[in-house]
Amino acid sequence: MVKISDFLNKSAKDNVLKALADAESKSEYHALLSLTRERALERAEAVDRGDISGRLAGVPFVVKDNFLAFGAPTTAASKILENFEAPLQATAVEKLEAEGAICIGKANLDAFAHGGSTENSAFGPTMNTYDKDRVAGGSSGGSAVVTALDIVPFALGSDTGGSIRQPASFNGVVGVKPTYGTVSRYGVVAMASSTDVIGMFTTDAEDAELVMDIMSGRDAKDMTTLPDFFSVKNEVPLNLKIGVISESMTDSVDLEVRSITKSYIERLKEAGHVVEEVSMPTAKYSLAMYYIIVPAEVSSNLARYDGVRFGVRSKKAKTLSELYGMSRDDGFMTENKRRIMIGSYVLSSGFFDAYYLQAQKARTILCNEFNELFTSYDILISPTAPTPAFKLGENTEDPIKMYMSDIMTVPASLAGLPAINVPAGITELGLPVGVQLIGNRRDDALLLSLAKSMEVK
Ligand code: GLN
Repeated sequence: MVKISDFLNKSAKDNVLKALADAESKSEYHALLSLTRERALERAEAVDRGDISGRLAGVPFVVKDNFLAFGAPTTAASKILENFEAPLQATAVEKLEAEGAICIGKANLDAFAHGGSTENSAFGPTMNTYDKDRVAGGSSGGSAVVTALDIVPFALGSDTGGSIRQPASFNGVVGVKPTYGTVSRYGVVAMASSTDVIGMFTTDAEDAELVMDIMSGRDAKDMTTLPDFFSVKNEVPLNLKIGVISESMTDSVDLEVRSITKSYIERLKEAGHVVEEVSMPTAKYSLAMYYIIVPAEVSSNLARYDGVRFGVRSKKAKTLSELYGMSRDDGFMTENKRRIMIGSYVLSSGFFDAYYLQAQKARTILCNEFNELFTSYDILISPTAPTPAFKLGENTEDPIKMYMSDIMTVPASLAGLPAINVPAGITELGLPVGVQLIGNRRDDALLLSLAKSMEVK
């Protein structure tokens, strides 16, 4: 698979032309919603002239289409933002560009990042890299697939409940969800502000370290960003204490997923780490908490799309309230509407205490459970998803079944902890399976150095 270093010290224009040609020749996967050809070529020429330099000079990359970036509209894969031209760029994109990286296109996603398969895109689904009849995972499915197809060496995604880790697992690449607040969210379409994080897809942990080093740090435009704490750990971590979350290895999890996870655990032991089973009794309630808290925040964050200030405006409306209603009805997907409805319900005065408040209390119990485990363990491990990539259409009729694919990833999101997917094996059908490594707050570098030490090259 390609690495960032394969693109350094080469003609930036050749790099960009090759990435654009690959994107076109692999368009049947529908991983990209748009290409930023003109701007990418202009930037490549500037790099080749020596006007732009840096650690990623001339390296092409892709961003999920919920990042504001110049050169193509920012749609969030929704009809309501179909023609929305970004007036500014996301801080994460700006930081990469300052190091000479070149964005070549915008990747498909579930509209507004609501989903786990990229089938909720208003512009059609993305296909899995290993089997075109299967889903890419989601919501950052397009970003995972462009990386796995070697179109670019890295791509950006957002992860609110698993949207980087799960598609990374389904497509056999590294996917990193940093500690909440590590990378600025400024200029990224908000889903649920208390769990949204910005992260990346790469083909190995070393490249993830480099991208993380560049993107992380305090941003005055996002008051939830942490002062820069990330620095690459070059030494191999030794004698770690690792806890396997026993609730993630029950019979309800696919047999091959469990056996691939077990073989990764065996390799951790061979490398000298101590691995023990641990229990997280509250984890089984985390999906219930997530699907109360996240829709609540979604309903509030999506209130701004009213047909007046952004995006598509209904032409049929005769009154202001019809204008709001009809624009939102035309512009949002079913899953967006479901979340707005649930969110408005759990926040309504009659039900706030029964749902939203309870969920936030349960979230605190979950956070305490993690804190307690991290007093004895350095890292926790589980499969990233309960199954390998499922068939296109398999879960679209049943939202609860779709939500189940987030069961392993939402706990770390609710607690704001860093968690990464590392490719761990391939099933008999030839589908990738990943394991999830979860760290304590700000232990992102430890996770990546462990992942790096375990990679088979
Ligand atoms: N699949 C999860 C959901 O639908 C996660 C989405 C995300 O992380 N953006 O909410």
